Amino acid sequence: MHVLITGGAGFIGSHLAESLLDRGYKVTIIDNLSTGSFSNIRGIENNPNLKILIDTVTNEMLIEKIINECDLIYHLAAAVGVKLVMEQPIFSLENNILGTEIILRLAARYRKKVFIVSSSEVYGKSSQDSFKESDDLVIGATIFKRWAYAASKAIDEFMAMAYYHEQNTPVIIVRLFNTVGPRQTGRYGMVIPRFIDQAYKNEDITVYGDGKQSRCFTYVEDVTKSLISLSEKNEAIGNVINIGSDEEVSILDLANRIIRMLDSRSSIRFIPYNEVYGQGFEDMHRRKPDTSLLRSLIDFNDLVSLDNILKIIIKSKGF
Ligand code: UDP
Repeated sequence: MHVLITGGAGFIGSHLAESLLDRGYKVTIIDNLSTGSFSNIRGIENNPNLKILIDTVTNEMLIEKIINECDLIYHLAAAVGVKLVMEQPIFSLENNILGTEIILRLAARYRKKVFIVSSSEVYGKSSQDSFKESDDLVIGATIFKRWAYAASKAIDEFMAMAYYHEQNTPVIIVRLFNTVGPRQTGRYGMVIPRFIDQAYKNEDITVYGDGKQSRCFTYVEDVTKSLISLSEKNEAIGNVINIGSDEEVSILDLANRIIRMLDSRSSIRFIPYNEVYGQGFEDMHRRKPDTSLLRSLIDFNDLVSLDNILKIIIKSKGF
């Protein structure tokens, strides 16, 4: 089995590559190192079953050659993180839409199974208790940059479904909910690595807004295991599938837990959203997945708890 991972030097892609190599798969990674980094794949770079290509998914000739040779594609290459999308909206939109268009077109041409990795961002500011794949998407106005990422991922999903319906391309769309674990960087705004670094240095913990917003953090290896199990399920094809834990935590509670775990002297500093992202920024108050579809397809139990996730990340940083 030969698998192509676009964005394979990124945080999730590199963990997925490791899991696939552990199972004896042949893996090709393509990554332009824009948000990914070579250090993420240091541990596997000498594996004889791994090929690393530092290039972009918009290099259509190269992508065509690899897709022709591989059996399965995980398309993870994308601009990630609210911070990056707020700072570079053109780059984010172009990359997310154009990259997916190329991958889908070539997967369709060579009839290869392809995972389009989407995000819980697409649910937007919906206020439901938990989000189901068939729910309406409640995305804000186009004058607010934040929603550009959600809109680009929604377009990717529509495009993938169009290929499935019109050309019978075997696509599987997954929506990931706040995936976290070792090697995730806080550089693009992600909250857990940021809080852990701040607490370790006894600096103020930067809680945006009132900290009452909540998230369900999912351990990266629970996500990669699910991605691999889904690839073996024909019933997954043509579906949009949430992948995420249902353990909900408020951002303020998260900050306090991290302070306690690191025995830190940090204080909590509440920062209004407009000071971070400018006027008119809208955050999501809650974001919890309904995973009944996922559980009907694969075993999705015994997930790593948030406390254990935090311990693993803290240890991986050597703190
Ligand atoms: N957040 C925060 N302080 C930070 C970084 C993020 O309070 O230094 C908040 C952010 O506003 C959001 C939550 O933490 O409500 C999760 O942010 P992240 O960027 O990790 O993921 P998101 O859920 O926004 O995609």
